Amino acid sequence: MKITVGVRSDTGRVREGNEDSFLVKSPLFALADGMGGHLGGEVASQIAIRIIEEDPSSVLDGDHDTLAQLVRRANEAIFERAGTDRELEGMGTTCTLLVLDGNQAHLAHVGDSRAYLLRDQHLEQVTQDHTLVQRMVQEGQLEPEEAIHHPHGNIITRALGVEPDIEVDIIVKELQDNDRILLCSDGLTDMITPEDITRILVGKPEPQEAADNLVDAANEAGGQDNITALIVRVTKAEGDEHRAPNHTAAPRVPPPPPDGGNTGEFQAVDDAPTVPASRSRRRWIAKTLATVAILAILGAASYAGVRYLLSRSFFVGVDDGGSITVFRGIPEEVAGITLKETELDSNLAWERLPTRNLKENVRDGIRVDSLGEAEQTVVNLRERIQAFEREQPAINKQGDSKTDKGSP
Ligand code: CA
Repeated sequence: MKITVGVRSDTGRVREGNEDSFLVKSPLFALADGMGGHLGGEVASQIAIRIIEEDPSSVLDGDHDTLAQLVRRANEAIFERAGTDRELEGMGTTCTLLVLDGNQAHLAHVGDSRAYLLRDQHLEQVTQDHTLVQRMVQEGQLEPEEAIHHPHGNIITRALGVEPDIEVDIIVKELQDNDRILLCSDGLTDMITPEDITRILVGKPEPQEAADNLVDAANEAGGQDNITALIVRVTKAEGDEHRAPNHTAAPRVPPPPPDGGNTGEFQAVDDAPTVPASRSRRRWIAKTLATVAILAILGAASYAGVRYLLSRSFFVGVDDGGSITVFRGIPEEVAGITLKETELDSNLAWERLPTRNLKENVRDGIRVDSLGEAEQTVVNLRERIQAFEREQPAINKQGDSKTDKGSP
């Protein structure tokens, strides 16, 4: 088989850095989508790729034990690193690994990145997402259509670096002439539909052109996350007994983020200096906690573990009485179960927050790393309210002569 490769990795339009990493070392290909804070996400996905790259010989014979073992080694390396560096605590990554061996494709997979196979204009998702919603679909709790825009769509149930050992999915596919395999991060599949992907792959047979088009389409649809598309096309070669890899070497490390300001949702954060955590970090913590929570609900893990994780998590939100409150736990409900308890009531009315963005941030819950940080966040919010209310009479005097409403 002749192998042609195209790849593009892009920061997208919202994130500040690219936490996706990939490897093109034909006939070995890999994609990793890191999570766990700005630094952590990048480090986790890069460790995964480095471990895979270091010893590719061990997987090139298509031995599935070795393939899974390689992913487990990457898992261990990330887990150990996360344990020794406080800044990297809680980091993790997805990993989808592809090895071509003759006319066979061997895949090892963990997380919510995906591998698709395009054959004769038909797109098949080869990997299964390790996500909460996928699990709920399997358990019959959710219809597949309901899963597409589910609020817990980004909660994953398996990732490298979270636990000392990891279960790895192994998939084998027989390949045919002109098959294309797409490895992609969720920054692509959250933005465009399988129909869009099919249309682009069918319309652009050249892998590089198709990869560029996929990333462009995801950016046009909002580019909410880092986007990586890695496409491998196999075509029958003359005397097809030995492998004839076409070493279309591509850069391993994602390109630097384009300059330019944040757009869209990030403006809400700009308006709220009290929000210290990046979106990706918040997303990752939710993943970890909800994973354990759902496993507990399904009877596969202990409630003690859930309580331990929840006891280390804090956020600033609003209680039922409309008061800004520090909670222990997470804002989301999982499968209808509340995972928070009141830690500290500030007696500040949420209604008094000066801007809509600030109100929305607090209503959704501002995640923080410690109780101290939570208290500081409340102090900051109080200052914002007081500063705003002090200015109110002055503004009113300049405008019309309405009575001031901010002072007690
Ligand atoms: Ca992602």
